[in-house]
Amino acid sequence: MKILLLGKNGQVGWELQRALSVLGEVVALDRHPAVTPYGTLSGDLSDLTGLRAAIRSFAPDVIVNAAAYTAVDKAEKERELAHTVNALASGVMAEEAKALDALLVHYSTDYVFDGTGTTPWRETDAVAPVNYYGATKLEGEQLIVASGCKHLIFRTSWVYAARGNNFAKTMLRLARERQTLSVIVDQVGVPTGADLLADVAVAALQKTLVDPALCGIYHLAPAGETSWHAYASYVIEFARTNGEPLAVETINPIATTEYPTPASRPMNSRLATDKLRNAFSLHLPDWQSGVTRVLMEALNK
Ligand code: NDP
Repeated sequence: MKILLLGKNGQVGWELQRALSVLGEVVALDRHPAVTPYGTLSGDLSDLTGLRAAIRSFAPDVIVNAAAYTAVDKAEKERELAHTVNALASGVMAEEAKALDALLVHYSTDYVFDGTGTTPWRETDAVAPVNYYGATKLEGEQLIVASGCKHLIFRTSWVYAARGNNFAKTMLRLARERQTLSVIVDQVGVPTGADLLADVAVAALQKTLVDPALCGIYHLAPAGETSWHAYASYVIEFARTNGEPLAVETINPIATTEYPTPASRPMNSRLATDKLRNAFSLHLPDWQSGVTRVLMEALNK
């Protein structure tokens, strides 16, 4: 089986390089041209012509897209680029996947919803993105579905990994530097490990290749829920208990309104995962187990 991985060095892309490697021949690209047995391939999602040519040259059975314009606040200003990378490039992948009868595996976000309420979002709930990044991710989903290609779209939230920048690592750094931290308490979601996102994609894509009726949009996050404030407290408490020298003494809970950002954030990022668990007979662990694992790696415990 031939697999094209885009965005190989992102949080999720890095874990996908590992997880996909047992399935077949993987050509993994970042935004720079790569010399491969199939020619020099462009994995730059802002170059739609180059992207299309790369897919045609390799002719994969599966395309896995882990690349995205993920700078949520910057996307409010850099609209054209965010739109090309998150929406139009997804459309190109979908068109080419359709022509090749390939399966397209893609990631999206809870930011496609308006973030109101306290109920976990279901795949069938009405979408209404809270910011421009969310709008571009939604359009990407819609282009994939409209193309008629075989697809798996995983909507997830609050991604972290041992590699790359994310909230947990920022909290660890700030806890070493500052006595007082202020962290948002009224946004609720589920921290999701990039390793889980990669492993579930592999399990799901294997079953979907056998049974294309499984194609569709799925919500994917571990079990449980937390606020950014409780998440930060968990990370810091774990580090302290494990002997990490920290300066922090107080972690102040603050409201979203006290921390204005260029892009709005949803208050409710909870995702209902029944559809995914039932379709693929999967168990999703609680969020703390994945965070603990990454912290142990980060702290070398
Ligand atoms: P990262 O930001 O860690 O990785 C994104 C990758 O995309 C980076 O390697 C980046 O490359 C690459 N990229 C950006 N622009 C381009 C481009 N023009 N051409 C090629 N590659 C490009 O994101 P995650 O791994 O966390 O995200 C994976 C998926 O999950 C994305 O679809 C994202 O929208 C989704 N998601 C992420 C969430 C999160 O909290 N991070 C939450 C919900 C969904 P470079 O390093 O060179 O910029």
